[in-house]
Amino acid sequence: MNTPPILASNFSDPSRYARGTGTATWESFEVLLGGLEGGQATAFSSGMAAITAVFDLLVGPSSVVIGSDCYHGVTQVAAAGARSGRWDLTRLDVADTTAWVDAVTWADLVWIESPTNPLLEIADLVTICGAGPRIGMVVVDNTFATPLNQRPLALGADISIHSVTKFLGGHSDLLMGAAVTDRPDLNIRLEKRRALGGAVPGALETFLATRGMRTLGLRLERSQVNALSLAARMQQDQRFVTVRYPGLIDDPGHSLAVEQLDGFGAVVAFDLIDADAAEHACRSTRLIRHATSLGGVESTMERRAAIAGQEHLPPGLIRLSVGIEDADDLWNDLDHAVE
Ligand SMILES: *Cc1c(COP(=O)(O)O)cnc(C)c1O
Repeated sequence: MNTPPILASNFSDPSRYARGTGTATWESFEVLLGGLEGGQATAFSSGMAAITAVFDLLVGPSSVVIGSDCYHGVTQVAAAGARSGRWDLTRLDVADTTAWVDAVTWADLVWIESPTNPLLEIADLVTICGAGPRIGMVVVDNTFATPLNQRPLALGADISIHSVTKFLGGHSDLLMGAAVTDRPDLNIRLEKRRALGGAVPGALETFLATRGMRTLGLRLERSQVNALSLAARMQQDQRFVTVRYPGLIDDPGHSLAVEQLDGFGAVVAFDLIDADAAEHACRSTRLIRHATSLGGVESTMERRAAIAGQEHLPPGLIRLSVGIEDADDLWNDLDHAVE
């Protein structure tokens, strides 16, 4: 029933060494994720390791396009590469579909997040991933949606990226990442990049990630019900200045989300009146943890503008990752903290 964590780097077989050939523990995780995404998965030691492996596929002077709202680690990697002359960097408004469609025809790497972290903006993936003629790679960071809500490869993306640390692992007890592709040439290059870059996943981590994914459907279902319930209550309450959740009917991304997602996800962002109010609320919860990161069974929240590379965010913006607790308990906690 379980592939155990295989604690071996070396084998009585000269053709095998775990950094290059992997182990059955990695493989069972990769087969599982690859099956859900419709491609071949390569597991890495973290989401950022998978992300930098993809950026490292760029050869010679290149052009990179990322979104205006994007995970801060990606923003920093893209900016550092631009500073050192490895590539030109263009940033596009997530909602500017025309500009993204155009970028697909000239950029070597088009990097899209949808829903975005942390503003929960929705890109028109169907149109962008279907655009052409394509000269480079179109990569979608699918961390927020998970393969249960969105399958970018089926929409035409070349690579789907995961921070497995988040919803796939689901228990805030591991760091892992993955790059999934249905292009055999890219799969070979990613595996080679992992073998030489050395950012391989651990035996225990791949075991725990596989175990976590067994309950992904149940966890996500409960978290999404909770998220919608909280977002709807916030929307009726003037203490919450803005509520961002693609499941809300008047959210700017709602109609696209209905078209391309099978669920609205478990992250809600909301603005309080200013940075002080947000910091105070984050420190006043009793059930919801004041913590960074997301995607665990426990709810966490954090003021995101406090983070480097996230200066575009409203100062009072809080990102809430909704766990599997009781929805009324969560609302009561939030209500008390905001009050
Ligand atoms: C957390 C996160 C990452 C980075 O993943 P790590 O596992 O922390 O390295 C990348 N993209 C998104 C959208 C994330 O939320």
